[in-house]
Amino acid sequence: MSAPPLAVTSVGSWPRPPELLKALRKLQRGAMPRAEFERAADQAVLAALAAQEAAGVDIVTDGEQRRDNFYSFIADKLEGVKLMSLADMLDVVEDKEGFRRILDTLDVPAYSIHNPTCVGKLRRREPLAEHEFRFLRAHTRRAIKVPLPGPYILTRAMWVKEVTRAVYPSKEALADDVVAVLREECFGLRAAGADFIQFDEPVLTELVFTQGMTRTFMCAALAARNVPSEELELAVSLVNRVTEGLDGVRTALHVCRGNWSRNEATLLSGSYEPLMPHFARMNVSQLVLEYATPRAGELVVSGDKELGLGVVNPRIDAIEAPDAIAARVREALRYLPAERIMLNPDCGFGTFATRPMNGPDVAQRKLAAMSAAARSLRSVSG
Ligand SMILES: [Zn+2]
Repeated sequence: MSAPPLAVTSVGSWPRPPELLKALRKLQRGAMPRAEFERAADQAVLAALAAQEAAGVDIVTDGEQRRDNFYSFIADKLEGVKLMSLADMLDVVEDKEGFRRILDTLDVPAYSIHNPTCVGKLRRREPLAEHEFRFLRAHTRRAIKVPLPGPYILTRAMWVKEVTRAVYPSKEALADDVVAVLREECFGLRAAGADFIQFDEPVLTELVFTQGMTRTFMCAALAARNVPSEELELAVSLVNRVTEGLDGVRTALHVCRGNWSRNEATLLSGSYEPLMPHFARMNVSQLVLEYATPRAGELVVSGDKELGLGVVNPRIDAIEAPDAIAARVREALRYLPAERIMLNPDCGFGTFATRPMNGPDVAQRKLAAMSAAARSLRSVSG
């Protein structure tokens, strides 16, 4: 895939229009046939695409319009996965007190959260994202990025020991099948012509910033205590097993500190520094990192990888000025050439369908500001 220097792209999700949210609720209630939902989603994808193209985005996504969120959508696509409400989970987890404590700290309505839980042998019933890619490919000539949940978050989320143990003896055994499912998907995407696949692994920041105590709803093992160094090793090995032999496709790892609330205080803080040695060993072409908020700390660069530099905050209304964005990029240009830097927002604009962080107008204007910054920098560098 040829991308211009300082290519402008997004992390993945785009706010869903009200008609699509209505359709999603009907689909989830069983009150709308899947084909009808997909037709509504087609229209939403085309609108998200048009907004990105109008904003001058070089590498587009489908806005994840067909998903309820960036990872639990896989429950529809895989055999052996069931969505469990947090109330269901509270019934089964052993450490109920710990679980309750975590729920209390969340700035999120617990009733709206469902965790994809492994309750049977995992098998791909249908592709996770190949249909998303094919639809977008048929409607744009631009390069396309396909976001997928990474193998570590899927394993962590799906492993609810009290339930999953009946099927898989250990988290590692479950992980073997998660890797197999993702490899099948990635190789299918490559055969379909996809040129950029991004793995979302937001939970990795929790490991280092909360000493292994999960504090978001993004994982079923909510109250489970994990040894951060062991978990990071597991994440490195899972990502590398998924991407082994996946040549000819640009791959990326996206790691942020959560994107479910505008209340920055509930989101995690800390530099990527302690994660960098692990990122460096992951066999991916690019790291897509958030740098638009002070919570992310100083810029840290992994020398042999491209950087997807977060330059706008999806959780605020103010549109970042192109000059300020360009200044941020110039800082990164001290470490990496323009060919190895892409510009993206810190995260998606609608990670969770029912909880978008901004509307489509603000999202489009932020992308347009990024494009303006990229154009000005390219014209200077000649
Ligand atoms: Zn993110």
